[in-house]
Amino acid sequence: MKAPKIPIFSIAVFNAIRKTIGTLPPESGGLLAGSRKTGVITFFHFDTRAKCSSVGYSPDTVTLNRLLVKLNAEGMDMMGFVHSHPAGLHYPSGGDKYYCRKIFAANPELPFLIIPIVNSSATGSPFRIRVFVATPTGGEVAIWRVPLNAGKMKKIIPEINITVTATRQLIS
Ligand SMILES: [Zn+2]
Repeated sequence: MKAPKIPIFSIAVFNAIRKTIGTLPPESGGLLAGSRKTGVITFFHFDTRAKCSSVGYSPDTVTLNRLLVKLNAEGMDMMGFVHSHPAGLHYPSGGDKYYCRKIFAANPELPFLIIPIVNSSATGSPFRIRVFVATPTGGEVAIWRVPLNAGKMKKIIPEINITVTATRQLIS
């Protein structure tokens, strides 16, 4: 099994995750996009309508699908989903794996999904982000823990340049 490329978060995306998911109650989440080729994540969409429960995070697929069309038109790739867990749950859950398996089944060309798990300061513990990459392995899903790599992007890479709908807030 080939180890996945280590993704690179733009500082803007990292800060946006910290300001939203990092301060809100667990099972908040959002979409990550960027370049699948370079592994650079330059776009974050905070999912305000996600169904958040103690069982898990499930994205608002209607809005996300609409967003993906726009991202593709901008030459960006969907890279994965970031969401928070209750205190003490540091790894992707069975439900998270199940969700990845469903996405891989529907998108056979997808080589990986980046699925960081956040500990929100709302849980009383300090903000923390652990980066995981899911890869498809013959109908199953492998989960890799990878280092967090964040950096300032060169100007030629658009960080956040897409607006979606008035009901959605893009955080830059
Ligand atoms: Zn989860």
